[in-house]
Amino acid sequence: MIFSQFMMLPDKAKKLLAKAVQLRKENKKFVLGLYKRKDLDKMFHSEHERVFEKTDCLACANCCKTTSPIFRDVDIERISKHLGMKPAQLIDQHLHLDSDQDYVLNTSPCTFLGDDNYCRIYDVRPRACRDYPHTDRKNMMGILELTYHNTLVCPAVAEMVENIKKAVDQKKS
Ligand code: SF4
Ligand code: SF4
Repeated sequence: MIFSQFMMLPDKAKKLLAKAVQLRKENKKFVLGLYKRKDLDKMFHSEHERVFEKTDCLACANCCKTTSPIFRDVDIERISKHLGMKPAQLIDQHLHLDSDQDYVLNTSPCTFLGDDNYCRIYDVRPRACRDYPHTDRKNMMGILELTYHNTLVCPAVAEMVENIKKAVDQKKS
């Protein structure tokens, strides 16, 4: 069942996510265990550059298909203005509050995702979409749990974690 969501992805992405599902316990332990490392940000930032240089997000869009970004008030203001509607209308039509009292999408895939994997509100998309998968963020220590979770959503994060695992193993030997 968990693999059915991967069917439409490119082969490489499918393999990376299937492996991340298979190794989820090992990966969770490994990623959460990275919190002590002084080179944590450096490791993720260089992997982020390296992996995204050869990742085609338009062939994937798995984040837009399977998870919802948080829509902050400023995002809702900006997007509703772009769509020529009132913020309350945008909320009524597309959003609800989750258990953390954040606005998230009612539907998955995202209502703004086109069949061609282009975002129909790309220029005004939520900040959370612009920053996803957050692996170039300062202070990765604070988002290790999220980063582990993203190995199950984003093939690029799954690849970064595999590469970091190899690099850590090589340093040990
Ligand atoms: S708003 Fe755009 S970038 Fe964000 S999840 Fe929806 S389709 Fe993807
Ligand atoms: S950010 Fe990750 S999940 Fe989203 S489209 Fe790019 S590779 Fe796919």
